[in-house]
Amino acid sequence: MSADRKPGFNTLAIHAGAHPDPATGARATPIYQTTSYVFENVDHAAALFNLETFGNIYTRIMNPTQAVLEERIAALEGGTAALAVASGHAAQAIVFHALMEPGAEFVAARQLYGGSVNQFTQSFKKFDWNVRFADTDNAESFRAALSPKTKAIFVESIANPGGIITDIAAVSAVAKEAGVPLIVDNTLATPYLMRPIEHGADIIVLSLTKFLGGHGNSIGGAIVDCGTFDWFKSGRYPTLTEPSPSYHGVTFAETFGNFAFAIACRAFSLRDLGPAISPFNAFLILTGIETLPLRMQRHCDNAAAVAEWLSGHPQIDWVNYAGLPGNKFHALAKRYSPKGAGAVFTFGLKGGYEAGVKLVSNVKLFSHLANIGDTRSLIIHPASTTHRQLTDEARLRAGAGPDVVRLSIGLEDVADIIADLDQALKAA
Ligand SMILES: *Cc1c(COP(=O)(O)O)cnc(C)c1O
Repeated sequence: MSADRKPGFNTLAIHAGAHPDPATGARATPIYQTTSYVFENVDHAAALFNLETFGNIYTRIMNPTQAVLEERIAALEGGTAALAVASGHAAQAIVFHALMEPGAEFVAARQLYGGSVNQFTQSFKKFDWNVRFADTDNAESFRAALSPKTKAIFVESIANPGGIITDIAAVSAVAKEAGVPLIVDNTLATPYLMRPIEHGADIIVLSLTKFLGGHGNSIGGAIVDCGTFDWFKSGRYPTLTEPSPSYHGVTFAETFGNFAFAIACRAFSLRDLGPAISPFNAFLILTGIETLPLRMQRHCDNAAAVAEWLSGHPQIDWVNYAGLPGNKFHALAKRYSPKGAGAVFTFGLKGGYEAGVKLVSNVKLFSHLANIGDTRSLIIHPASTTHRQLTDEARLRAGAGPDVVRLSIGLEDVADIIADLDQALKAA
């Protein structure tokens, strides 16, 4: 590639971060299945531990297979650096560990993946990290939830499971005014459909388990540092701006500039909390990412066809897919995600809770399970599964009422996907 050419997204998905293996020439990135790495000498070891030189020490903190994955994700999202970890939830825990202090608050969209609602309201509470909720489709509600203790705002680009498209630029304006970073969970869109950094995100989190890995075979997560946030301005982020006692007084934001957040997440939060990604999972996810653009386009095209078919079906009350003209979020989808509105959406059955349970019991090609972003088409009835821990009110607000069914449309022939839904609806 000539130096003046900027590689395109398809090229980055295959090549970013990867080089033939220096030891063997292996072209595919090897699985470096090792826990630790031999130091060149005592001085080299000391420099590594002092963060004076970058390098491998121990796979809880960093690993060469993981490093390729990180470089690739950073390139696809357009950030300065990335950190790969054990799961999407681990990515969120690490981001907040680096940002929060006991007693601090953050504002999150109410319309989130059910697991994130649990993490924020139950587990984070034990650290005295407190969430206040706002409505994704109302930027003013984020402003209303701010307080002097607010450390961040958190939204999903496409919200799971409601099929909501967030006006990231509008929420970013509120975050900028408040002087706090905007964290965007880009799991459902992936950087193929949408790059939150272009709309004002400061930090991106991803569940790699879903469309990035894409094959339903490995759990992983990532954090992307967009390099956009001024950590010193407010003095509210001591992890970044005060000397770190465990690194001989290194101040992350001073030493590492526009990738300081990624370093703090790795060298402090991942080191001490420990949810490292296995090299094998990093390898599988890297392999998945090579075909992300092809897969994501097919996911979206199939989903659009299924959503359109469902919206004309007599047993279906409503279909909530932002790709359909007439949907409340259609204009935002065209603006933020012009290649497609993703492959996860919900619809409502006229027969309510009972009909939902029957439908998931009668599908044959679809798998009834709690995941999204697989090559296979997936179905779930959130009220009886992923969202059953929430109160009735929280369920409704999260778009998971009793009649709601969620689909994650796979890569099978779309005629087969529709035929399966058709026979299952007849049986229901
Ligand atoms: C699945 C998911 C997560 C959590 O990711 P895990 O890899 O399962 O921990 C977070 N956010 C969204 C939008 C998800 O779909």
